[in-house]
Amino acid sequence: MVTTRETVTPPQIRQTECFIGGQWVASVSGKVFDTINPATEAVICQVAEGDAADIDVAVAAARQAIDKGPWGTMDARDRGALIYALADLIEADVDELAALEALDNGKPVTEARTIDLPLVIDCLRYYAGWADKIHGKTIPIRGPHFVYTRREPVGVAGQIIPWNFPMLMTAWKWGPALAAGCTVVMKPAEQTPLSCLRMARLAQKAGFPDGVINVVPGYGATAGAAIVRHPGVDKIAFTGEHTTAKLIMREAAETMKRLTFELGGKSPNIVCADANLDAAVEGAHLGLFFNQGQCCCAGSRIFVEAPIYEAFVEKIVARTKGRKLGDPMAISTEQGPQVDRAQFDKIMRYIDLGNQQGARCLTGGQRFGDRGYFIEPTVFTGVTDDMAIATDEIFGPVMTILKFDGVDEIVARANQTCYGLAAAVWTQDIAKAHHIAARVRAGTVWINCYDVLDAAAPFGGFKMSGIGRELGEAALNNYLEDKTVTVSLR
Ligand code: ADP
Repeated sequence: MVTTRETVTPPQIRQTECFIGGQWVASVSGKVFDTINPATEAVICQVAEGDAADIDVAVAAARQAIDKGPWGTMDARDRGALIYALADLIEADVDELAALEALDNGKPVTEARTIDLPLVIDCLRYYAGWADKIHGKTIPIRGPHFVYTRREPVGVAGQIIPWNFPMLMTAWKWGPALAAGCTVVMKPAEQTPLSCLRMARLAQKAGFPDGVINVVPGYGATAGAAIVRHPGVDKIAFTGEHTTAKLIMREAAETMKRLTFELGGKSPNIVCADANLDAAVEGAHLGLFFNQGQCCCAGSRIFVEAPIYEAFVEKIVARTKGRKLGDPMAISTEQGPQVDRAQFDKIMRYIDLGNQQGARCLTGGQRFGDRGYFIEPTVFTGVTDDMAIATDEIFGPVMTILKFDGVDEIVARANQTCYGLAAAVWTQDIAKAHHIAARVRAGTVWINCYDVLDAAAPFGGFKMSGIGRELGEAALNNYLEDKTVTVSLR
């Protein structure tokens, strides 16, 4: 493993219990589970393992806070002020939070510090600003009636998040829910509970009333499923795999919960022959390898137009070979370990499949070092549309490069997937760029850029990449019910 002299100090672990009704409590069963440092495979600490009994208590606290507590009647602007206060406390603690995220997730501390945390803070401030700008309409109807609508919080939001961006996913979920006036029962991913618990501590410090934010760490099949089944939960916001989302959809049907899903992808990144080649190479590199390839919107099918295919491959292989792998706590590290053993094994299986099915591995393809879940950044060329590495979401540092000829062909091939989260096109022909953007079935299309995300811009999937949108005004709607009030004027 590459080691550098400049590393950050591991943070102190302060929160390991459930946060329910404003209290830090052990799980009802007394059970705990290990959270592992993916760079060393060592246990960081043990965390309370919540299950159905803890979810019952958390939902009761969340119901109380919205139905009877001060949250349900709080002025919207004061709600916004609390969200601003949380953002300020996070900003004051960025170094510690970045180190905590790097420790638990394995992402490079510099990325956590310069990408994840600024996005977290920005997201919370964006939604803090929305809190007092949510209002209904007056609507002219036939007859002597006065009609207005109210936009009311949907109620208790059950929020289930994955491990790839633990703090950012927390902010994406809390921001719109709290701005809308909902209360929250959140289950962080079992791989990465620590930073979400730390954010709960900061929320407590910011002064959110008891029960507004509840965090129950635990496993999906127990704590997660209990949130989905609970009749006191009005809405589920889930980010994770589409296979899990299908289970949730079936379970949630029983209580008719509102559902929003942000799921996986196999996003096409289309490099046309007239693209600025260096910019496209850098965009493709970061679009795939960022966050160890563990991004739902990773540009994991790179389509390169025939005339520039060889030149593109040469440059991207050189760029990939220069990628700095190593200790996530080292300032200069660009790539850390995968999050856990299961992900590591899954990715290595796909690398084997790529080799077996006839793709050419030009760099990488091996475990890196002998400790931790590190995988070399890997580039496959000669990939065809039917290979497993071109159809399945690998969620790792495995780039697949495919060749194409012309716009009509590429739109059809880009859309040949069950997913539809994101896409990108690189070209200097602006008409062609918009033409492709309009025809690719994806929730986000980047033109001459990749992974540009902003709290104000909606993000989410077509097809099996999701239902509803995160971020922007769109995400607020996930947490609101419209109520029509009709007054007789006779
Ligand atoms: P990933 O591959 O990112 O771990 P998952 O969909 O398995 O994707 O997990 C995302 C989140 O969903 C995690 O917090 C996990 O614990 C939770 N989860 C997994 N299974 C279920 C389930 N059956 N019901 C509710 N939540 C679940």
